[in-house]
Amino acid sequence: MLLTTIVGSLPKPSWLAEPGVLFAPWRLEGEPLREGHDDAVRLALREQERAGLDVVTDGEQRRRHYIWGFLNGLTGIDTERLGSKLARGGRYAERTAVARIVGEVTRPGPVFVEAVRFARAATEKRVKVTLPGPMTTVDSLLDEHYGADERTLAMRFAALLNEEARALVEAGADVVQFDEPCFNIYLEKVRDWGVEALERCIEGVGATTAVHVCYGYGVPQVLAWKTRNREWGHYGVTLPLLAASGIDQVSVECAASGVDVSVLGALEGKDVMVGVIDVGTEEVETPEVVAERIRRVLPYVPAERFYPCTDCGLVPRSREAAAGKMRTLVAGAALVREELRAGAIGAEARPGTAAAP
Ligand code: ZN
Repeated sequence: MLLTTIVGSLPKPSWLAEPGVLFAPWRLEGEPLREGHDDAVRLALREQERAGLDVVTDGEQRRRHYIWGFLNGLTGIDTERLGSKLARGGRYAERTAVARIVGEVTRPGPVFVEAVRFARAATEKRVKVTLPGPMTTVDSLLDEHYGADERTLAMRFAALLNEEARALVEAGADVVQFDEPCFNIYLEKVRDWGVEALERCIEGVGATTAVHVCYGYGVPQVLAWKTRNREWGHYGVTLPLLAASGIDQVSVECAASGVDVSVLGALEGKDVMVGVIDVGTEEVETPEVVAERIRRVLPYVPAERFYPCTDCGLVPRSREAAAGKMRTLVAGAALVREELRAGAIGAEARPGTAAAP
């Protein structure tokens, strides 16, 4: 119970890419870049193992960005000459620079299969691999080719993501996670076609499937919005929809958001990766703070389905902060596990007590 994991990304070593910058270009090329990616993944795995995490990722060390990593393996997408559009519902910025769809989008071959084989061979731990969810992918692209509606585009990406997910499981992935921060923005679209597209992604995927729904990276634009925001009721809409879906695990942001955690009671029957680490600060929480965040959620998520986790990716943080936050995550979970074993606190969740905030 209380197995620990991170959402996905970790900061990159400064010899690979400039730290603290999203989309940072590589500092190596050709064979040295290939070797650098392998070494960075080895380090990322080692840091997670040293911290004591139960489920590990490759830290997304091979991707400049969590969405582009997959897009770069497809045809018909230009990530060099960017366009601009109102993305994320204009929540964080009026215009956002985005990659463009400029031709037929196909998946000529596997994108992360070699990456998963490498990670699988480099660790004994359970390996999770992340893919961008179809709604968030479509929101992050300017369509200059199809002129199709978003649902049609999303279903096209969902089919390609499904092919990739199946291949990743064959390559040894234990968990395939789809990142859908847009599920906390476009609530009507989530109901209309978002969950349908997500279900298409996991069709026939023979491993644990997960979805990550957060309030965005710990970067200044997003943190400014979080400080202003007063409405945190999104999970009250999305989680019941996900509870009725075929997805196995749901990853939610609870440490740095204003979410009323009683809403997690809606996820009865699902594994819940509960964000108990704030990814927007360099300050490393004490294990006691992490333990308190876990205790707060225990009435709504039973310990055997409760995965203490980070709120979101750790890529914007320093390597020191990221390593410290992973260690304190494990230490905080261990404190509560001890209390549960000693019977000091109850392990019984109280499903049905949840109310949407
Ligand atoms: Zn996130």
